[in-house]
Amino acid sequence: MIYLDHAATTPLHPRVLEAMAPYLKDAYGNPSSVHTPGRRIRFAVDESRERVAAALGAEPGEIIFTSGATESINTGIRSALVASEGVLVTSGLEHKAVLRVAEYLETKRRAVRYVTPTSDGDITLEAVEDAAGAGAGAVALMWVNNETGRATPVRAVSGFCRSRKIPFYCDAVQAVLLMDVNLAEAGPDMLSLSAHKLYGPKGVGLLYVRGGTDFTPLIRGGAQERNRRGGTENVPGIIGFAEALALAVEERDSRREHVAALHVRARNALRQALDGPVVFHSPDPERQTGSPHILSVGFPPVRRAIDGEMLLLNLDVEGIYLSGGSACTSGAVEPSHVLRAMGVERETAEATLRISFGTQNTEEEVDRAVEAIAAVVRRLRN
Ligand code: PLP
Repeated sequence: MIYLDHAATTPLHPRVLEAMAPYLKDAYGNPSSVHTPGRRIRFAVDESRERVAAALGAEPGEIIFTSGATESINTGIRSALVASEGVLVTSGLEHKAVLRVAEYLETKRRAVRYVTPTSDGDITLEAVEDAAGAGAGAVALMWVNNETGRATPVRAVSGFCRSRKIPFYCDAVQAVLLMDVNLAEAGPDMLSLSAHKLYGPKGVGLLYVRGGTDFTPLIRGGAQERNRRGGTENVPGIIGFAEALALAVEERDSRREHVAALHVRARNALRQALDGPVVFHSPDPERQTGSPHILSVGFPPVRRAIDGEMLLLNLDVEGIYLSGGSACTSGAVEPSHVLRAMGVERETAEATLRISFGTQNTEEEVDRAVEAIAAVVRRLRN
């Protein structure tokens, strides 16, 4: 099998599994219990919080562990808007977790303004400034897009938001693996991560809340996470998350180099292998304007359009696993909202593959995958 879907999820790193194992077996105490086994677990959770904070250049008190990025996004955006009456500024390129929250807020008569991307699908500082205009209550933008790998100029947007005192929420799920998201200097006021995108376990994430930022919890209950997120902590998940994040920082440069080389190889090989048109929705890694682990490639129609589902199914039969440019929404197959918001034609968006590379992928795998993709595209075009 050739797994090229690391933007969807990553395998658990053996070092992460090893770190988690004791907490799945004998170390099962509840960190809120006052007895010795409970206190031991509390210590391990606190230590993980310190490791995570150190990896991000944050303070331990700024980290709230959650069940994943979706919860962090819901909590962060709603918290930002509780504190203000203003408009939510976001973009049509965000993850559904952000867009669904924005749509919900609109039903509650909260105004939402969408930043207009460039024709390449980039969000620029100028476009954010335009959309913010007067009356912005919060800005919510992702750091790296999960379908294209394109990056938002987050440091510049942070500076702008700070100068205007607008809380800035950032979804950094796809950024943290290969980019420096150090928060010690200028950066977002709130940020979310999900462990399973960085060789950690599923069902655990975090919300970073910069010291001094107004915060209102979404999940109320026990006093966990300093009264900011009720519910017994996912202890093995938190331990694994801390290990995975430490590893990500340790290995960031070598991982980026490895993955960028595979991306460039695939890009060049696809261009050569296909006789018909090919379009890349991801930036060239040499331009360093995004994260190289994602290569989104579209196959515009020649005589007729390519059926995106058939494309994926044919590759699945060959043992090549990746994602497409369409998704099943309410029973109907719809082209990716991200590609459509970037202005990609519907038929090309549907006939798009998102290839996402991981640390274990090899050049041979990339060559085999490209060969198979070219053969399937040729077959479906004829
Ligand atoms: N944001 C981005 C950019 C993502 O890629 C994902 C994962 O699909 C999420 C948010 C949601 O993460 P989770 O499903 O772990 O909550």
